[in-house]
Amino acid sequence: MNQGRFPRRVSPDGRRRLINGFVGTVADMTNRSVSGRREPPRFRTLSLSRKEQIGPRLIRVTLAGDELDGFEIKQPAASVRLLFPSRGSSELVLPEWNGNEFLFADGSRPIIRTFTPRAMTSDGLDIEMVVHKGGAASAWAKTAMPGSRAALSGPGRGYTIDEHATGYLLIGDETAVPAISQLLEHIPSAIPVEIHLEVASGFGRLELPTRARADVAWHALAAGDVRGTAMLAALRDTALTDTTSLWCAGEAAAMHGIRTYLFGEAGLARSRATVRGYWKARD
Ligand SMILES: Cc1cc2nc3c(=O)[nH]c(=O)nc-3n(C[C@H](O)[C@H](O)[C@H](O)COP(=O)(O)OP(=O)(O)OC[C@H]3O[C@@H](n4cnc5c(N)ncnc54)[C@H](O)[C@@H]3O)c2cc1C
Repeated sequence: MNQGRFPRRVSPDGRRRLINGFVGTVADMTNRSVSGRREPPRFRTLSLSRKEQIGPRLIRVTLAGDELDGFEIKQPAASVRLLFPSRGSSELVLPEWNGNEFLFADGSRPIIRTFTPRAMTSDGLDIEMVVHKGGAASAWAKTAMPGSRAALSGPGRGYTIDEHATGYLLIGDETAVPAISQLLEHIPSAIPVEIHLEVASGFGRLELPTRARADVAWHALAAGDVRGTAMLAALRDTALTDTTSLWCAGEAAAMHGIRTYLFGEAGLARSRATVRGYWKARD
């Protein structure tokens, strides 16, 4: 099955193919390095050890296995790539790095998605996954059973907390809930934190880590509301100073609107805010 978005040609020997305009094997591509991107950390094959529905649309999966040895979460709001079995299969096949991206030997793309490594416990690594329509990772979270396999690469760099900030503003949608929970656990207790979570209807309100000096507001979008509206309104209502720090993540177009406001109309210095697109709506 061709999961890639580019044309592909498999030659009679079944090994040589056109990948991103390059004809050769995956190994050839690795050697030639298509664009010289740094190879991500190796995949660690893990299995589901526990699954918990922690909200109407949020599932916590715990991944465990010997290959998790040495994995550490050093910073909050970091990222990991998770590799899942291809659609219609329960078998987990590891792809090869071609110098630019991970591909299977036939040139097709594996299912790899990015998540926040939420917590390491003696049971394994917790990841909290939003359940939504049409997502491969979301479908895996819904159907995975103890023993179901997934592989993990990472972690990628997280967020460095500004210990000198006089206040923190944490803003995000459902996908940012795990990272915001982690940030709440890491921001020094003397710094007041204001949190705005904009969630689709039916997501519910979840318990965030308890902390003094934290104000949490949940904004449930009604049908037809444009994503980002509540986040932007919350920002417009907040007095941003040059000692306030802001961390914000969510749907890409909503984050674009927030960047435009912050660094344009509000005149905030770019160094005060981290704004990250976590997913792209295709509706
Ligand atoms: C650094 C980083 C950290 C992240 N951490 C988390 C995390 O901890 N938990 C988490 O759930 N997500 C997290 N995400 C977002 C996650 O990677 C995406 O939501 C991803 O697209 C989900 O994959 P999928 O296979 O379920 O859906 P896809 O196959 O990628 O998408 C299928 C369809 O679903 C839509 N879609 C994707 N995500 C959502 C959503 N959340 N709500 C509604 N529709 C959606 C897409 O627009 C598309 O139409 C993070 C992303 C980044 C970059």
